[in-house]
Amino acid sequence: IKQYFIKNGLPSNNITKILEDDHHNLWIGTSKGLSKFSPEKEKFKNFSTSDGLITNNITAAFKSSMGEMYFGGKGGVTRFYPESIKINYYKPPVYITDLKLFNKPVRIADETQSDEFTIPQQITYCKKIELAYYQNVITIGFVALNYQNLENNQYKYKLEGFQDDWNSAGNQREVTYTNLSPGEYTFRVIASNNDGVWNTQGVSLILIIDPPWWKSGWAYAFYLLIILTLLYAFRRLILHEAEIKNKLEVEKLEIKKLQEMDALKMHFFSNVSHEFRTPLTLIAGPAEALLKNVKDETQKIQLNVIKRNASRLLRLINQLMDFRKIEEAKLELNCEKNDLIQFIKNIVDSFNHEAKEREMNYSFIQTCSSLEAWFDHDKLDKIIYNLLSNAFKFTEDGGSINLSLIVDEESTKYSDAHTKRIIEIFVKDSGIGIPKESQQKIFDRFYQVKNYLTTQGTGIGLSLTYELVRLHNGNIYLESEPGKGSTFTVILPLWTEESQLPSLTSKSGSKKLNKHEIIQESTPEVITPTNNKDNNQNRNFLPHLLIIEDNPDMRLYIKNEFKDIYRVTEAHNGRIGIEKALEEIPDAIICDVMMPGMDGYEVCRKLKQDEKTSHIPILILTAKSSEQHTIEGFESGADDYVPKPFSSAILKLRIKSLIDSREMLRKKFIKEPFAAIKDFSPSRTDEALLKKAYNIVGKNLSNPDFEVSDFAYEIGMSRTQLYKKINAIAGQTVREFIRIIRLKKAAELLVSTDMNITEIAERVGFGSQSYFTTSFTEYFGINPSKYVEKHIKS
Ligand code: ADP
Repeated sequence: IKQYFIKNGLPSNNITKILEDDHHNLWIGTSKGLSKFSPEKEKFKNFSTSDGLITNNITAAFKSSMGEMYFGGKGGVTRFYPESIKINYYKPPVYITDLKLFNKPVRIADETQSDEFTIPQQITYCKKIELAYYQNVITIGFVALNYQNLENNQYKYKLEGFQDDWNSAGNQREVTYTNLSPGEYTFRVIASNNDGVWNTQGVSLILIIDPPWWKSGWAYAFYLLIILTLLYAFRRLILHEAEIKNKLEVEKLEIKKLQEMDALKMHFFSNVSHEFRTPLTLIAGPAEALLKNVKDETQKIQLNVIKRNASRLLRLINQLMDFRKIEEAKLELNCEKNDLIQFIKNIVDSFNHEAKEREMNYSFIQTCSSLEAWFDHDKLDKIIYNLLSNAFKFTEDGGSINLSLIVDEESTKYSDAHTKRIIEIFVKDSGIGIPKESQQKIFDRFYQVKNYLTTQGTGIGLSLTYELVRLHNGNIYLESEPGKGSTFTVILPLWTEESQLPSLTSKSGSKKLNKHEIIQESTPEVITPTNNKDNNQNRNFLPHLLIIEDNPDMRLYIKNEFKDIYRVTEAHNGRIGIEKALEEIPDAIICDVMMPGMDGYEVCRKLKQDEKTSHIPILILTAKSSEQHTIEGFESGADDYVPKPFSSAILKLRIKSLIDSREMLRKKFIKEPFAAIKDFSPSRTDEALLKKAYNIVGKNLSNPDFEVSDFAYEIGMSRTQLYKKINAIAGQTVREFIRIIRLKKAAELLVSTDMNITEIAERVGFGSQSYFTTSFTEYFGINPSKYVEKHIKS
């Protein structure tokens, strides 16, 4: 026995009648309709009034002998043959028919523009729909196309991504979803026909709900970016802080180290300086004493050099010692009353000689002729002297320098209210100027600006000047434009009364100024010995030496060493050196390496490349003595190299041997008629030039009218230059040089051809045979016919 209930498929549990058909199916009448039960398959198929039953409440049943079945109830009887009841196997297609947002149908897009949400085509044809996050009350309508007992069509739907199980909708053809979160969903619906045959394929619609902009991918990328940026910035900040901290630490350490080094250096310098002072004073003093007695001009010059250089060193050393004092705060003002204008004028005058030598426009501009005031003589001297010597150092020859003074009685420039009277000192030059970026540091200790005018200096002058001006309660300013010049302005309070002097100032009382007290360290005066005319003429035969050296004392020293045996020309820089070499074609050149502007190597290179000067032997003189510098010297074409300090005897020997070697080459040219050009050329440039000269003469061999001027024109030199050049290489006049080449050619022809002497004389441009024979005999020491005999035999 097995029991069946509504849950197994019966329309009702109240069964009233049961009939069996010929196929053993049971036809069961209930109070809610008829059911066909197949005992084999255990399946019920229910029928109701909608299938054509007259009533659902079946109370009577009967099967005829023909197999026809009768089911009756209150309203009548329904009869049928069980075989005639067919099942509908048609799987109805399903369509989505409707889409509503907030219960309003969604329109299809048309021409009219409106803000309302539309879909591009009928919803039935849409595969995918994209909605905004706020369009979240969605109703979807659907239908199965089976028209038999429409209301018996059954539907199931699901929304993948939201709910993955099928929902039975019964015969409901609509479903509504609300509050779907952003994302992608697939809505699926399947349907069955009136006989419960399902179209499991169904239909689907993809629903995409866009997130709000602040939740979009871009927004998240942006958030990520912001977070990353913040993290990065934070990290940078931390690193930066650490870096600054480190830097500060390092800087502190460096400063400490520098200060220590500085102190050590200063300590060392001042100790050494102190040791230097005594011997230097002992050099300068006796030199000065000797100067007064010595009559010999050469000795005077040398003594002057000694005195000047000792003073220069002394000045430098004093500056270093002053530094030490400043550092230890031991430097104090030591004022005396004196004529300030006259005092400054004396310092200004000590540069007159240099200004004249260098053809500078140098002036002192003052508004009053005298002014009694209290000031520290030594310190003011150092201030003015430093400024003036810098102006001279950094201004080219021919430039202008002036020092002017203005006394201002009611100055507002001065911070000290008690001192309204000031004196302004302007030192103005038209020199090379100071670049903007260096102007700040110019008063720093050891600070120097690289420039082309000088390689000298220590970088302490201005720093000391600054300290000294400050000591006077004064101020110093700089105005400068590179290439145009500089103006240093010193402002000092003017103390006319002793009472005005600041404390910490000692007073030494009034003292008249002695002009000699100012150390003179200007350009050396070159005292040329008075020569008489004879002497001059004799000197013309001396070899000619050019000295290119920027240090005036060194120049003077070398000159004095050589002046008795050489004619000496001087040049104080490379450019002038080259000009003089070209102009005077000396026999030898001594050239310093370290020179402002053009250095010695460059001078050497230029001279060696120029045909007019390439033969001149050059000796390079330098303080650099490393192998690298020697190589550089020879590479530039220098013939010899002497490192400083040198002994004058060695220098003289070297120069002599250079000049002698040139002499030997000249002899070779004359004495060895068949020597190759290379063998008597002092340099490659000369070899090329000689070849050119030989070719030019060779071309004009048979032309007896070939003149010096033609030769000069063809070779591209002036007659004088050609004369000097030929004289230097061959030791001959140009005419003689041409004649020798002609003769050399003649000798060659005599031996190598059958031409007779007359023909040859004509061929090599000798007008007459007799002149040819005399010249030939004179040059070769044998007449042409004998020469042929001798050479053909040999
Ligand atoms: P130095 O001993 O090198 O002259 P200073 O302290 O006197 O030292 O000067 C520092 C630097 O300032 C010099 O190297 C130079 O370049 C520059 N300087 C000073 N005075 C002048 C000037 N009148 N014109 C151009 N440059 C100047």
